[in-house]
Amino acid sequence: MKTSSSASSASSASRQRSLKKTVRTGTVYLALALASWFVGAGIVEAYVRIQLGGKTLYHDDPNIVMQLDPNSFSGLDGEAVRSAVQLSMAQWNSVPRSALNFTLGVDVSGADYTGNNHVIYYDPNNNSGWFGGGSMTVAVTPIQYSTGNGKIQDIDVIFNGRRWDFSTGIVPGDFDIQDVLTHELGHVAGLDHSPVHGSSMWPYVAPGQWLHRSITEDDRSGAVAVARQGGFAQMRGTLRRANSNPVGGGAVGAIRADDGRLAAVVLTASNGDWVIKDLPSGDYHLYTTPLEGVTSQSQLTGDGIVETDFGAAFHGGISSPHQITLSQGENLNVGNLVVAADAAVRDNFNHPLILARGGPTKSIYIPGVNFNGGVGSMIEFSPYITLGPLTSDNTLFSAPVTVAPNCPPGSYDIYISLANGELECVPGAIEVVEAAPELSGISATEANALGGEWIEVYGSDFAEDAMVLVGGRLSNDVRWQNANTLRVLTPKGDSGEADVVVQHPDGQEDRLEDVLRYITVPVYEELFPRAGNLGGGTRMRLVGSGFSGGMIVQVGGKSASYRLLSTRVIEITTPPGDMLGTVSVRIENSEGHVEEQSDVFEYVASEDPDIASFTPRTGKRSGGTEVNLFGDNLASGARVRFGVDPITVQGGRYAGGVQRISAAELRSRTPGGSTGEFAVVVEMPNGQGAIANSFFSYQPAAGGGGCGGVAQGGAPGEPVDWLPIVLVAVWGWRISRRQSSETKSGCAR
Ligand SMILES: [Zn+2]
Repeated sequence: MKTSSSASSASSASRQRSLKKTVRTGTVYLALALASWFVGAGIVEAYVRIQLGGKTLYHDDPNIVMQLDPNSFSGLDGEAVRSAVQLSMAQWNSVPRSALNFTLGVDVSGADYTGNNHVIYYDPNNNSGWFGGGSMTVAVTPIQYSTGNGKIQDIDVIFNGRRWDFSTGIVPGDFDIQDVLTHELGHVAGLDHSPVHGSSMWPYVAPGQWLHRSITEDDRSGAVAVARQGGFAQMRGTLRRANSNPVGGGAVGAIRADDGRLAAVVLTASNGDWVIKDLPSGDYHLYTTPLEGVTSQSQLTGDGIVETDFGAAFHGGISSPHQITLSQGENLNVGNLVVAADAAVRDNFNHPLILARGGPTKSIYIPGVNFNGGVGSMIEFSPYITLGPLTSDNTLFSAPVTVAPNCPPGSYDIYISLANGELECVPGAIEVVEAAPELSGISATEANALGGEWIEVYGSDFAEDAMVLVGGRLSNDVRWQNANTLRVLTPKGDSGEADVVVQHPDGQEDRLEDVLRYITVPVYEELFPRAGNLGGGTRMRLVGSGFSGGMIVQVGGKSASYRLLSTRVIEITTPPGDMLGTVSVRIENSEGHVEEQSDVFEYVASEDPDIASFTPRTGKRSGGTEVNLFGDNLASGARVRFGVDPITVQGGRYAGGVQRISAAELRSRTPGGSTGEFAVVVEMPNGQGAIANSFFSYQPAAGGGGCGGVAQGGAPGEPVDWLPIVLVAVWGWRISRRQSSETKSGCAR
């Protein structure tokens, strides 16, 4: 029968009739109308945890801090990489019943996986040693774990920049950092590869792919399994052969009876037991399938038993599968599932067909072997998905697929039922997504590089939870107006042209290149000193923002030389003045933006003070150290400030009891301060001042408890091992696997 999207009253009797007809003729494509009600998007899952030597790898704390080495990503904007990392982490952090919480710690440089910190970096030269020879590995997650109990001790993510090109965005031919990292973070959490095609933990990745940016129900359940939080319902049972022997490492899939969505695929333990955690209440169909073909045991990191000498089967048979009802919070044991006899059929399907709901029809091509000369049928259980006429032979089944506009987004299976009785299951063969966002324009042409301005972004099909990146940086306030308009608070940026990207939570994006020009406007905040000798030559620090090279700086209308210390600080040397009194400071950048402050600097007659040296140069953090300062033109009433920021010359505290010994010497007693090296400045009552050329260091309190000697990490002598998990590239139909056994072997450090 053809699918009806409103088939809410379809009975199981009509379903069975349809099925039998289909199976008998072998040419009609069927979408079973099982829906009796519509349940909103729920959390369902399938996942495989990493198990080695009978131990399940785990973190003792679900709060996982990763540190980025942004400068290692040569050729990419470090801030755009950071945004990609944040979006990847947000996917895993958003699972309701999982305590998993990734955060980004302080940046590192020269990252190395052998350290104790968890780092994310790019390796263009194989310095890490993980990408030798012609390695097809796209990224690797080396895990150091205790072989005694499975506890993860160190875990890192390394991108193979030697072999592949990466982008922060969807670029043909490049791997997307966010897509790859979302997958790798699943490993970091303790998940192994999943046999579900559309899941982030699927073991292959293609250039230009975005699908793994978003995690599926499958991955979410994994996130709950590694770090549960609160209660949930689960379903369990035992997988057996007809002779009642258990099947270890068999895949058990659950699909929702109402809409046909894939809920979970899990692997059975060696005794045949399986459990699917965190299932929403509702009705399910169950099936089993051997883990062979494209996702087989060789794609798993774990070393558990995986039996494949059996055939796929539906619980109750595919023509009238049993309907299992799971109640809220229930721990349901469904008893024995029985596998079929081993079958010759095997598919080599390696990339899900992605279809927008309500979008154009596309054909699915499932290649394989032993397809019974093409005699059989292709079956899809969703009432929202319609299969068109079948084309089939012994190595290929193909049919057009149409998705109704109200089809719930998610993963959907395809089953090939052959006339010889064999069944082939393709978990997650179809991935139904919302329409992709499309951009048409924005309301502005320029924005301040400091950010904080509202712009409007125009287009179509904007999701209510759409995210916006400007110049690679995430906006932290996006307000959905309607499907065609977003109001966006601009993030900070770098001067120049910036792309605007709208990204949906499922990973789809659209981009307008170079559509917004970030401009830097110089802004004045503070000046030190505020007075100087009429003859010029006074060095002063001007603190503000938006400073750059190529600016014209004027003091009292005359050109002044300056040195750029940062985008926030310049050091100006004053020109000679025309007369005593206050004058303006004017800054004009190369784009013609001007900042002018009147009467902020005063030309005076007295010579500028100077501090040539002081002694001692260190003192206690608690203060009270007597310091003698030597220089010139030190006026009475001079003040001394310690603990000063050496660049901005702001901050710090005034010394108490300054004694003027002479115009060339001051005596002072240090105030308290924080440990570290700081500048020292003197300030005259008339606003003149000077910065000492050397620093004053505050030392930790005497006898203090520096804690640098505390050993970190596991107990001495604890056995540990290194385990690399690799993500490999897939190009079209050709799957490139690593040639060696590196995917499996632990590598002792
Ligand atoms: Zn992987």
